[in-house]
Amino acid sequence: MSYVDEVLEIVQKKNADQPEFLQAVTEVLDSLRPCIDANEELYRKNAILERITEPDRQFMFRVPWVDDNGQVQVNRGFRVQFNNAIGPYKGGLRLHPSVNLGIIKFLGFEQIFKNSLTTLPIGGGKGGSDFDPKGKSDREIMAFCQSFMTELCKYIGADVDVPAGDIGTGAREIGFMFGQYKRIRGMYEGVLTGKGLTYGGSLVRTEATGYGLLYLTQELLKCHGESMEGKTVCVSGAGNVAIYAIQKAHQMGAKCVTCSDSTGWIYDPEGIDVALLKEVKEVKRARLTEYAAARPSAQYHEGRGVWQIKCDIALPCATQNELLLDDAKQLVANGCKAVCEGANMPTTLDATKYLQENGVWFVGGKAANAGGVATSALEMSQNSERLSWTFEEVDAKLQNIMVTIYHNIDDAAKRYGVEGDYVAGANIAGFEKVVEAMLAQGVC
Ligand code: NDP
Repeated sequence: MSYVDEVLEIVQKKNADQPEFLQAVTEVLDSLRPCIDANEELYRKNAILERITEPDRQFMFRVPWVDDNGQVQVNRGFRVQFNNAIGPYKGGLRLHPSVNLGIIKFLGFEQIFKNSLTTLPIGGGKGGSDFDPKGKSDREIMAFCQSFMTELCKYIGADVDVPAGDIGTGAREIGFMFGQYKRIRGMYEGVLTGKGLTYGGSLVRTEATGYGLLYLTQELLKCHGESMEGKTVCVSGAGNVAIYAIQKAHQMGAKCVTCSDSTGWIYDPEGIDVALLKEVKEVKRARLTEYAAARPSAQYHEGRGVWQIKCDIALPCATQNELLLDDAKQLVANGCKAVCEGANMPTTLDATKYLQENGVWFVGGKAANAGGVATSALEMSQNSERLSWTFEEVDAKLQNIMVTIYHNIDDAAKRYGVEGDYVAGANIAGFEKVVEAMLAQGVC
């Protein structure tokens, strides 16, 4: 039995009740096979795979808080510190009723490789709670965040573990958590990222994931003798990632003709009006029907359907599993050349395979949306320096990072004989750096 299969069996036995974690480990180790097979003896002797699939430590704790009716509520809090071979643990805090240990472990495991790809010194971690922020008052959110941080603050620190936002954790929650950390620990340090600009946040963080996605896509096209200029782009989503992806694509001379939200989608053949989209989604927090009502060239459709529109480039930026096999077939039939993921896991496995087998350049979220966490790491650097860089400085660093990521994943795929498989390339490039650091640091 190969080393990969042996370890997969062990991981399955030990984590039988964590399907998401098992899925992530299986997918990553499968795509790493060429690299692991080539170094099997060394990795086996050093139990690299056994160590990288077992978190350094995981915390699970009670989060009691009082709701607006005076009733005490109890949630469960998590922080998984997965691997710190290349830097302090870094990864978001997800607040969603679906959160459990298996989901946090799956996200923390993936984060190791994504963070490694950024070229910056950050390890992998993830945390959160099964608390549902939807429908809660500001006071209830603050009560939860303060209670959550009262326990979490024992395990984190600017050089130890630096959490960030994720689903359900935005600027408001980060602010409440930062305030509580400061109050309990009596110290002002960059222990969280995604902070407001007045207290240590970084310029460009808001735009980073969408802009980064386009910097990488542009480099991908350039290396295939193409450019963004004049390209038609289909985007899904109408949130943070989608809005800034559309904005940057337009700055690069492309035309984005679609966007979507959880109830419907827009086809706007004249190109999405970003200012109007921001007004509808960021200011009014309204549905896309309002966009269509204000824009004569736009057509609104209920349900899902952005991938049926003919395009050169598709950028899924909404949510997981939103680009299915039939969508992939439609994209290929329409001559789409590239799919780069702004969201996490938006393309199903069979759709990914179909795209790759039909010659579409496919870059998964681990590499393509790494601009968000990369800019969070730049926020950490600025906090350590006690300086704030200008928008242009951060933007230039982000661009440089995304271009480097593209070349690293491309090179890794070529080195192991899977040229053009950017999914394998991303896993291999991220993995190699972490493993080298683990080997150098001995048995720990
Ligand atoms: P937002 O919540 O800002 O936006 C998500 C958008 O997707 C919303 O417009 C939402 O619609 C829409 N959406 C949700 N579900 C569906 C669905 N089933 N079909 C179509 N549209 C849907 O999130 P972000 O933009 O921040 O994140 C998007 C994705 O990118 C997520 O997968 C996230 O994990 C990933 N990501 C984000 C990063 C960041 O820095 N923000 C970094 C790396 C990854 P509605 O307006 O109706 O809610």
